[in-house]
Amino acid sequence: MQAKALVTGGMMKVKFWGTRGSIAVPGRDTIKYGGNTTCVEVMLEGDIRVIIDAGTGIRPLGESLEPLRPNLDIYLLITHIHWDHILGFPFFEPVYWKNCRINIDGAPTCMKGLRYPFDNMMGDGFFPVKFHELNAQINYLDRLRHGPLVLGDTVVVEKIDLQHPQGGYGFKFKQGNKTLVFISDNELRLDGWRGQTVKDFVRFSEGADLLIHDSQYLPEEMEAKKGWGHSDYLTVLDTGIQAGVGRLVLFHHDPSRKDSQLDEIVATCKKKAKERGTSLEIDAAREGETIEV
Ligand SMILES: [Zn+2]
Ligand SMILES: [Zn+2]
Repeated sequence: MQAKALVTGGMMKVKFWGTRGSIAVPGRDTIKYGGNTTCVEVMLEGDIRVIIDAGTGIRPLGESLEPLRPNLDIYLLITHIHWDHILGFPFFEPVYWKNCRINIDGAPTCMKGLRYPFDNMMGDGFFPVKFHELNAQINYLDRLRHGPLVLGDTVVVEKIDLQHPQGGYGFKFKQGNKTLVFISDNELRLDGWRGQTVKDFVRFSEGADLLIHDSQYLPEEMEAKKGWGHSDYLTVLDTGIQAGVGRLVLFHHDPSRKDSQLDEIVATCKKKAKERGTSLEIDAAREGETIEV
């Protein structure tokens, strides 16, 4: 595997290493869309490599970075610290490499979350290694909660507050005239139950080339799941259409959702988009897939 993808001409590359929500679900019913939890790699101009979240998908991503030893310089942005977004971190090989710099930013609690699997203050044996024993240089940037994060000469990252229990951040990457929006663990609702309504997310995603959004639930499940902090795929579709995005990728698949059901969801979304006369491209995130923006 070629670990260092060259990105040129203003292009962004997005690779999905973990697409699943809540808990890893390997098995015959999740082969196509994947069983690992949230981890997405974004490759940007100037060989800037950003990893979003440290779910179980970050373990194979770490293996893929082996050819870049020993001088690896990466950014890790954490949406929030629910288990499915951080528990892969102790198994991310680069944390044990010297001369590896991991620059961290994201939700204000991100460092607490990344430390916790190593040291949970009780010293009672959840993991054999302590956080301070890691060889990598782990730097907390602490910029995003104050404003945009600038990477290199051409990339700007902005955040939006998630509508999710305990909160968190969604991210927008702007590079030249390209825009990528990543929003997982977010409940799109008209009433803005934690301060942001659908309109705010439409505005944040306006004109994006690619919108990746949480779509864990079916519309008929939403009544029972109100307040759980996830969206149904039809509301996500509507948000993508309203925002005029070029491509929509459904993300954070429910652990019980089989490949065949995800195929049906994608087909339904495509049909509905066609009925509404849009040219929106729609797919569900597949582990191992790379999308060029
Ligand atoms: Zn999650
Ligand atoms: Zn969550």
